[in-house]
Amino acid sequence: MNERTDIKSKQHLIGMTRSELEQFVLSLGEKKFRGRQIYQWIYQKDARSFDAMTDLSTNFRDTLPALAEIGHLTCLETRGTEETGSVKYLFRLSDGECVESVLIPDENRRTLCVSAQIGCALNCRFCATAKIGFHRNLTSGEIVDQLLYIKHATGKPITNVVYMGMGEPFQNYTAVIKAADLMSDPQGMATSPRRIVISTAGIADKIIQFTDEGQKYRLALSLNSPFQDERRELMPVTRQWNLDELLQAARYYTRISGNKLTFEYVLFAELNDTRKHALALKDILKSVNSKLNLIPYNAVDDQFKRPGPEKVDQFVQWLLPLKAGLSVRWSRGTDIKAACGQLAGEENQRKIQSGR
Ligand code: SAH
Repeated sequence: MNERTDIKSKQHLIGMTRSELEQFVLSLGEKKFRGRQIYQWIYQKDARSFDAMTDLSTNFRDTLPALAEIGHLTCLETRGTEETGSVKYLFRLSDGECVESVLIPDENRRTLCVSAQIGCALNCRFCATAKIGFHRNLTSGEIVDQLLYIKHATGKPITNVVYMGMGEPFQNYTAVIKAADLMSDPQGMATSPRRIVISTAGIADKIIQFTDEGQKYRLALSLNSPFQDERRELMPVTRQWNLDELLQAARYYTRISGNKLTFEYVLFAELNDTRKHALALKDILKSVNSKLNLIPYNAVDDQFKRPGPEKVDQFVQWLLPLKAGLSVRWSRGTDIKAACGQLAGEENQRKIQSGR
């Protein structure tokens, strides 16, 4: 108990903006520019200890560990290797909850799939994260630290970030945007905002807010069915925001931002992979400035099936000709349960099963 209180009372530095760090050092009686130095150490130079911050006075460096902590995450386990595919990181947070991130390297990109929540409240029928229910939102620091930790651990830059890990980013809007702002600050982590994608299951009012705020991050929308009734069964969030409202919000976004939106469409065998679906999907694609990512379903349980490659090809043929860009994402990382929708946090599940 004492230990927990102690950890909680310490200020966590990852997640703080430059001006928050300046305020923090001022409150300790230090000069404001020390805040900027700490900001650069943390976000540009990947420092994870105060000892590394060699331009701070030794006195200040010695007092900091009692008052503050830099990171949030303890890595419990990694699965997979960069040489052979994706790498899944399992992290423990300071309250004992667990969260996962997946590093997806390819030729000239290193993409990090980050989590925005522990668990998820939306209950999409096909997604593993739904099965653990909603535990809590992540803080902006806990989100940013997924990137900083992995960058530090691998010694290589992360070029792209996708909010496609655990949780619904638009149900943790403020922290997700603050984290993206930190990731893209040119004076700090300097990830291009065009290489940060926020994927939503369809919270229409947040799509509008995101648009009205002029956010420069890219938007993806998980569609999964072109039909209201079917989508409502697959994704209960459709009861709150129906397909029409969602598509209106999507059009509003593309018109005001001038950006394309990416539709994600998980393909389930004998469910949403028929010609009728393809034609209805094609109409939607024509009505929104967008591109399409088809994701053959990754097994979570035996309720749904993945279509074979010939069925996926057939579906693509039905969609053609198509002005919108189209890609098929055969997820990598299914062997380590790190593909889309497979991030359940086995550790969280173990906890539930053992009643911890
Ligand atoms: N909540 C957000 C982000 C997390 S899911 C969203 O829904 O967009 C990221 C993507 O994985 C979504 O497009 C989702 O539809 C897809 N997905 C979920 N479960 C999946 C599964 N079992 N197989 C393949 N894709 C899945």
